[in-house]
Amino acid sequence: MSGVRHVALIGLGNMGEPMLANLAKAGFQLKVFDVDTERAQRVAQAHGAQACADWRTLADGTQVVVTMLPTGAIVRDVLLQAQGGLAAVLARGTTVIDMSSSEPTGSRALAESLAQQGLHFIDAPVSGGVPGAVAGTLTIMAGAASPAEIDAVMPVFEAMGKRVFRTGGPGSGHAMKALNNFVAAAAYTATAEALQIGARFGLDEALMVDILNVSTGRSFNSEVVFAPHVVTQRFATGFALGLLAKDVGIAAGLGEHLGVDAPVSRLVQQRWQQARAALGDGVDQSRALLAWRAAQPQD
Ligand code: NAD
Repeated sequence: MSGVRHVALIGLGNMGEPMLANLAKAGFQLKVFDVDTERAQRVAQAHGAQACADWRTLADGTQVVVTMLPTGAIVRDVLLQAQGGLAAVLARGTTVIDMSSSEPTGSRALAESLAQQGLHFIDAPVSGGVPGAVAGTLTIMAGAASPAEIDAVMPVFEAMGKRVFRTGGPGSGHAMKALNNFVAAAAYTATAEALQIGARFGLDEALMVDILNVSTGRSFNSEVVFAPHVVTQRFATGFALGLLAKDVGIAAGLGEHLGVDAPVSRLVQQRWQQARAALGDGVDQSRALLAWRAAQPQD
């Protein structure tokens, strides 16, 4: 596919909207869809895109479809089932890029279904969070059946991200993303645990975060989550707790599926499930330690 101009984006949430803004700035002709129709209208208007009410309108002239949806199950539903499935009306040769954090095995199966309909599939999840999406500096982990499929959509990636890694075949980007988020969630969990132990001993939590951030215990979480969001009680990273718990579950499930003994992933999964059960899916992920703190036995 040379000269991609017509792109459709499905899912206009915390990540999808700023990604759309950057696609618009790069000059793509854009169509959008979100199940929240008011949101779709507002976001479309703000960025000069066309909000579509049905798949035929969205598919007409579209060369690349980007999905930025909560889960892989929703991505598969949109493509294969909802309103008859978007895939059924896309022109042969269209590329579908799933930039959501989806389960890698589901993505492999989706790639096969789409290939049977003459469609290309790339799983291209991202890291960098909402700030990276706003700045257009996301890291993109792209899996595809052939390198040429990625080459063909590089302008789309370059509008939203700074680095594109080619991770292998379909599903490999999604596997990498889940494993990254498991490592990040493990760092959050360990940092939260250290703060609770320290506080019980009499250490000041804010001081502990300052010290971690200039010491070997430093991590993305200690710097970008604990300092600006936990210590200040702002709790506004723009990443929902339910989504991070989902990612940790994908990583732990992948280890189990592959027969790898991975006890830390199981334990981190348990902790995030506990936080999700206590606080709900929709709260900011940076609040997780509040659930663990509330569940601590008192002296
Ligand atoms: P979000 O919940 O803010 O947005 C999801 C959007 O999808 C919403 O606007 C919702 O209305 C829409 N939607 C839900 N079901 C739909 C359907 N059936 N059809 C059409 N639209 C539908 O989520 P987000 O934070 O933007 O995350 C999107 C994806 O990116 C997730 O897979 C998440 O794990 C991943 N991710 C998020 C972050 C982050 O920091 N927020 C970072 C990296 C990756």
